[in-house]
Formats: sequence, C-alpha cells, structure tokens
Amino acid sequence: MIMQRDRYDSVDAIMARPTNRTIDAAWQAAFAFHRQRPGAPASAMYLRGQVGQNQVCLPFQALFYCQRAHTWFHPVCPQCGSELALCQDDALLTRWGLGTYSDSVERFMYCPACSSHGGPPAFFVKTKKDGIA
Ligand SMILES: [Zn+2]
Repeated sequence: MIMQRDRYDSVDAIMARPTNRTIDAAWQAAFAFHRQRPGAPASAMYLRGQVGQNQVCLPFQALFYCQRAHTWFHPVCPQCGSELALCQDDALLTRWGLGTYSDSVERFMYCPACSSHGGPPAFFVKTKKDGIA
C-alpha cells in the first residue's frame, strides 16, 4: 500500500525545492505512469472513487488511528462535528499568518463548514511550529 504522509521531511534529498504542489504533481506523475502502461500487467490496484475525471488520482480524506480504541477514523471538527479537510486555500492560510499550501510543505487541517461562517477558523497540524498559538 502506498499512502501519502502528512509531512514530507526527507523529500529535500530528491526534490530541489519541494512544495505541496510539487509533491502533488509527483504523485500524479507516478499515478499516470502506473496507469498508462499498455499491455503491462497491472502494477497497482486502485480503489473505487480514487480515480477522478481526466484520470487524475483523487486523494483520500485524512485517516487517523486511535491507539486506545484501536480503530481508524476521519478527524472531525471539535466545534460542529463535520469532517476536517486539508486546507489548500492559500489566501485563508495567509490571512491567519500560516504558511501557504502552494509554497511550503506545511499542511493544515481545518473545518470548511466553520470557516465559511466568517469567524476565526481553527487549524490543526501534527506538530506546531514555535511561535504559533
Ligand atoms: Zn466545524
């Protein structure tokens, strides 16, 4: 099984200037390579809903593991219970003093439902950087 990580700390060794966008592009290139080998035996198996229009690889939603209950779950918003999503909205991230999705390897989860109400959104990250509340 190949899965994306929430952090790419060691990608500097293989990419000149890694960003979330270049990492996303690398995933799409790998996906296209494995899907477009006519006549070759299937080198990968894909799950339903993983292939989007124009044959792009659609990322799955974040999946967390609870070590106490020994179960996998999608993280939910502590305020409204909606499922959290990866924030790729550079304007929103910049407005709240965070690194952009497009120009960094930082990734933040947020609640699109709560964010659309205009109040200060809550962002979630595996490890906080110094100086960020
Ligand atoms: Zn919410």
